[in-house]
Amino acid sequence: MSTPDDPIGFGESDIAHGETLLEVDGLTKHFASDSGLLAGINLETDRFPPVSFGVDQVEAVDDVTFEIKKGETLGLVGESGCGKSTLGRTILRLLDPTDGTISFKGDDLADLSGEELRQKRSEIQMIFQDPQSSLDPRMKVGQIIEEPMGAHDMFDDEGREARAKELLEKVGLDPRHYNRHPHAFSGGQRQRINLARALSVDPDFVVCDEPVSALDVSIQAQVMNTMEELQEEFGLTYLFIAHDLSVIRHISDRVAVMYLGHIVELAEKEELFENPQHPYTNALLESIPVPDPRQSGVRGVLEGEVPSPQNPPSGCRFRTRCPRLIAPDEYEIGEEEWSHTRAFMRAVKRRTFEPMSAAEIRQEFFDGELPRGGAGEIIGEAIELIATDREGGTRDPDSDDDDVEENWEEATDLLLGRFAEQSICARERPAYDLESEHGSGTHFAACHLHR
Ligand code: SF4
Repeated sequence: MSTPDDPIGFGESDIAHGETLLEVDGLTKHFASDSGLLAGINLETDRFPPVSFGVDQVEAVDDVTFEIKKGETLGLVGESGCGKSTLGRTILRLLDPTDGTISFKGDDLADLSGEELRQKRSEIQMIFQDPQSSLDPRMKVGQIIEEPMGAHDMFDDEGREARAKELLEKVGLDPRHYNRHPHAFSGGQRQRINLARALSVDPDFVVCDEPVSALDVSIQAQVMNTMEELQEEFGLTYLFIAHDLSVIRHISDRVAVMYLGHIVELAEKEELFENPQHPYTNALLESIPVPDPRQSGVRGVLEGEVPSPQNPPSGCRFRTRCPRLIAPDEYEIGEEEWSHTRAFMRAVKRRTFEPMSAAEIRQEFFDGELPRGGAGEIIGEAIELIATDREGGTRDPDSDDDDVEENWEEATDLLLGRFAEQSICARERPAYDLESEHGSGTHFAACHLHR
């Protein structure tokens, strides 16, 4: 609490700088997808009876493990819908975890409830993305900042007002604006009010969920600079969630990359940006807009849709979009031949080429020559299914014959079943600790290329 040197009670903690403050182990959050009239009824046409009852699980966060040290910022990045906000909310116990532990200063938050959890909440705070909707427009700024202090019985009225005014100054606002309403402030200023509100209860740890995404780029940097100053002054620890890698690069000490509920890579910032080891991280880095007027838009955009978290791919969850999927061990196939096979498999699955003859397909995807051995035989079979001059007679590619559709599906199933599903990428969940080239920290990469 407060001392003469520290009138508003900041700067105390029983955990030393650099020691583990938060440790998350095997954290899992699954949701039941039970909304709607037909909730819980599953239609499976290949089974008898074709209807079953049960609630599907959405695997939003699955078996996530990491730690955060006192005073550091861990950036958490990934595409929208990858589970990063759910992870932040589960750590805060705004959502109940399905499994795993959340050790904060030695207590497992996953085990706490009622008054114990309420007490702990003053040590862990959250800042949300939209400063507009997270501030009650009817309340004055002073009341907004004082509200959490009141909820935790901190100070009397006078003490709370003094602290609110001091915090306004700390976050770069004028304490004389204590009686104004939120609408009188800009977006950046409103996010500063949010910051003051989160800090009012003297937390050790703040989960920041896309806190600058709604702000202009120039304002983003200012708010992040203020957050860094406050972190240094008060020894704060941040979990900083963002989809924007340049924001993550600005503020993080270490970075965790999330894809479809899994952490796929985690390393110190420089190591992650200079020596990325996961194909997904590489794809994200390549899609950062380039500030070059001759280049438009983004480069290297990821192919394909993110699969549903209701039915995520086995093994490595990125495998259905991965440009480096590993060849199954059972085939003797060279790197170049495998690269051609992967491209062909993707093109058949997405039907990205016009129907053509078998010879044309071989030429287009394999420079005229199929791989030898078992792999070549399977590819030959798939080509035979979709070629316009397939065995059994020519076929009009423009006909809406159901057989044509079925044959493409059969070719897709054949290729995926014999190649993609047999890959180690589909059979085992990857997890590797690597040597870092930059800095002294550990480097985790969930990719079998490092086996
Ligand atoms: S494990 Fe396989 S599918 Fe996953 S990222 Fe690595 S190479 Fe790609």
